[in-house]
Amino acid sequence: MTKTTINSPQSPHWVDKVVEQILAWQKKQSVKKLHVDDMKTPSGRVHVGALRGVMLHDIVAKALQAQQQSTKSTYVFNDMDPMDGLPAYLNEQEYQQHMGKPLCKIPPPQLDKSGIDFSQATAAEKKQYQQAKSFAHFYALDFIAAFRQLGCSQKIVWSHQLYESGQMDKVIKIALDKTELIKQVYQKIANYELPANWHPFQVNCEQCGKVGTTLVTAWDGQQVTYECQPNKVDWAQGCGHQGKVSPFGGTGKLLWKVDWPAHWVAMGVNIEGAGKDHTSAGGSRDMANALLEKVFESIVPFDIPYEWILLRGAKMSSSKGVGTSAREFTQLLPAELGRFLFVNKHYNQVIDFDPQTMAIPDLFDEYDQAAQIFWQQEPGDERLGRAFELSQLKTVPKAHFLPRFRDLALWMQHPELDLAEEFEKIKGSALTKPELQVLADRQHYAQLWVNRYAPAEYQLGATSEIPAAAKQLSAAQKKYLQQVDQLLDSQANWDPQELQQQLFELAKKTLGARQAFQAIYLAFLGKKSGPRAAWFLLEIDPKLRKQRIKEVQKKQ
Ligand SMILES: [Zn+2]
Repeated sequence: MTKTTINSPQSPHWVDKVVEQILAWQKKQSVKKLHVDDMKTPSGRVHVGALRGVMLHDIVAKALQAQQQSTKSTYVFNDMDPMDGLPAYLNEQEYQQHMGKPLCKIPPPQLDKSGIDFSQATAAEKKQYQQAKSFAHFYALDFIAAFRQLGCSQKIVWSHQLYESGQMDKVIKIALDKTELIKQVYQKIANYELPANWHPFQVNCEQCGKVGTTLVTAWDGQQVTYECQPNKVDWAQGCGHQGKVSPFGGTGKLLWKVDWPAHWVAMGVNIEGAGKDHTSAGGSRDMANALLEKVFESIVPFDIPYEWILLRGAKMSSSKGVGTSAREFTQLLPAELGRFLFVNKHYNQVIDFDPQTMAIPDLFDEYDQAAQIFWQQEPGDERLGRAFELSQLKTVPKAHFLPRFRDLALWMQHPELDLAEEFEKIKGSALTKPELQVLADRQHYAQLWVNRYAPAEYQLGATSEIPAAAKQLSAAQKKYLQQVDQLLDSQANWDPQELQQQLFELAKKTLGARQAFQAIYLAFLGKKSGPRAAWFLLEIDPKLRKQRIKEVQKKQ
């Protein structure tokens, strides 16, 4: 088997195929410099779904950069967009006054009222958020942290800076000059009849600061005339102000459907994929393409229409659930594994991921298999090997031993086991320093999985509540547990080996070892077996242990 190289024509991986198509398209269109871009309106905590686009564009941009170093890769935050809805976690009274204002002009929320969990954040991180310049900036920070964690390195562009710096002035003028033509495009593409006084621009009201409520009624080539209407939209109330202002330099913005292609022209973007919600016939993508050709007379960017990522499970949908937001999702997996999830699936297929099933251990298994194929340790699907290569954040690591995630998750709950030793048995030699590091890293994620998502058979820690199975305990077993409690109290620093021996001796004298050890597992795990008894008992908080043994005595 030969190693796949970036963009080798025979590579079966979708990334390489997309790159090939782009390079062929570039030649045909005589495009000099490639520029990959993606955009998002930061109107609150960013949902994990938005990661699909960021990842796709980063993966494609990096594969292109391997061919053409000059390829640009940007991510635009559309922070000139108005606040047109309030996420449930925000204080309605506090934000009602800001509805309709541009997101870049609204103050950021307080940390504890933002809907973002800062319990694990460092002081420096918190400070960064406290210094956020706006509402948009605040939530963008959270999303940027998430995709940086996954190794995405797009250059961030703030839409308000494009407007304020004058970079959008030229396209604003074109759009206003060609208002009639834009109307015709709306009619043709979306069968949408626009009113006679419609213009593709909205002013930030000079009196109340709102943009969602204003209507431009005239354009004289220099200035726009506008009204801030009380009833234009049902989510914000305008102040009634009427005025005349230059549309240039950040006094307002183009309407969304025109704004999107206008950004492409102003920035020189020529590759931008869109999620399937934009790609329907007559949808915003069709509109953007038509406006580019007819109004801005520019080439239509290369499109990569991509599918969703679905995250399932009850814990996912609750407002405080882990994994709901992009940031929380990135905490579930090491960065390479998170990347692998996106790289491995073709962009036109849905990623359906439910952490409450065996999805996480399965993903680790597939990743390990991909690594072994890439390292030529086993034959297999070359596409999978390439997916491993594309998932790396920095250089691709040299071949090494990978401890199996699901084994680790189980074994780490057996306090009597030395994990490095166990995996050395499987490897057949000592673990190297980098391998020990991988083991430690995976242990962190395995612990997280066990605590939050693992099915019952993977949970071997003492339960916090008395298990239903404790009902099965016989009188003799209950008595044995009382004796165990006394035995444990008789010494402060038990040696587990010594304790195991004593537990065994005690059992032999009374109900026999099998029944005795089952008693321990039934009382603390609700199972008939578990980790070695002495090590297991010594891991349990003495308060919980005493309480539990007392409780089981009462159960019939
Ligand atoms: Zn107003």
